[in-house]
Amino acid sequence: MNILVINCGSSSLKFQLIDSDTEKCIAKGLCERIGIDGSMITYAPEGGEKEVTTTPMPDHTEAIRLVLEALTNEKTGVVKSLDEIGAVGHRVVHGGENFAASTVINDEVMKAIEECNDLAPLHNPANLIGINACKELMPNTPMVAVFDTAFHQTMPEEAYMYGLPYEYYQKYKIRRYGFHGTSHSFVSKKAAEDLGKNYEDLKIIVCHLGNGASISAVKNGKCVDTSMGLTPLEGLIMGTRSGDIDPAIIEFIAHKEGKNIDEIMTILNKKSGVLGLSDNLSSDFRDLEAGHNEGNANATRTLKTYCYRVAKYIGSYVAAMNGVDVICFTAGVGENAALVRTMVCEYLGYLGVAIDQEANHKRSEDIVISTPDSKTTVMVIPTNEELAIARETVRLV
Ligand code: AMP
Repeated sequence: MNILVINCGSSSLKFQLIDSDTEKCIAKGLCERIGIDGSMITYAPEGGEKEVTTTPMPDHTEAIRLVLEALTNEKTGVVKSLDEIGAVGHRVVHGGENFAASTVINDEVMKAIEECNDLAPLHNPANLIGINACKELMPNTPMVAVFDTAFHQTMPEEAYMYGLPYEYYQKYKIRRYGFHGTSHSFVSKKAAEDLGKNYEDLKIIVCHLGNGASISAVKNGKCVDTSMGLTPLEGLIMGTRSGDIDPAIIEFIAHKEGKNIDEIMTILNKKSGVLGLSDNLSSDFRDLEAGHNEGNANATRTLKTYCYRVAKYIGSYVAAMNGVDVICFTAGVGENAALVRTMVCEYLGYLGVAIDQEANHKRSEDIVISTPDSKTTVMVIPTNEELAIARETVRLV
């Protein structure tokens, strides 16, 4: 069955058509600047030429109409008609406490997703717009919602509660939710599969280090803790997000710089992280690695602080699970930055971690980068959130 995977943002939309039998991507692409002048669609059929077309997209319905037209185009399309698309899988960012698993979309589910809008005001409304646009154009095709938060719903209360007045949890559901769940679930399962071990018998730490970054502790097949919280701002230092800070810093900057809460949130989300810490050198780890190798002190300080935070979180999850069998690195930085993996693993001597540097520098699919006598196995596993969404969609339809 062909599954269309949709990841809809406020002004952009990523898509992939995946053949669920072979698990191969048949075509993928991106609509950008939806509702803004200069909208464009990039379409890349597998093994074919990538096309970029600038064309008006006043709304998401038009964007999805163009995606479906590209997929069924006589010359460059990959299916003859929309009948060849068996189901649509939608990435939905926040499922709150309503969703501990993916679900087939119906009116009740749409309402429950809308109830989570307050928790993810930038993402959930856009996800809903994408679902509505698909429903309009493909009214008879089953749709599935796959939530970023669902995998983390198994966290125990002591891991998800904040030390805040309890009434805020009761009134507003203020608690830790965690994100990147599809990736943490996919990578932890893949680690067990690659090692030929039972998922339910392992203690796994997944370091999803991308532009956004989070770590999770997966014990006996269930997530028991993760570093992102109510929003994706908590936890690790990220590309441009601060991660954990003393909350009193917000008031301090507000007074010193004469800024309001919205301006400070923009600083914490867009101007902090490795970008801010490197004094605006870059949010991209390729630049930071290059800078560090050239002796740039901003780059070195940033990499050291970033890796120290990752190592501290790993330590806390070893404590939460009373041990660890496998540590996995994934996403843009985790998959590509050998230096970051080395610097993080240098803190892990107490876990008996020993890294095989030849393996660590190899570019390949899933790979074990620890030595055979390392007490803890360390792996690099490329994440594939689209495939995970497609699998969930097939399972439910
Ligand atoms: P993601 O959000 O998972 O797509 O990750 C994107 C980030 O991965 C980029 O901002 C870079 O910092 C990082 N990245 C991508 N390729 C490399 C590379 N070859 N070496 C180091 N970092 C990389």
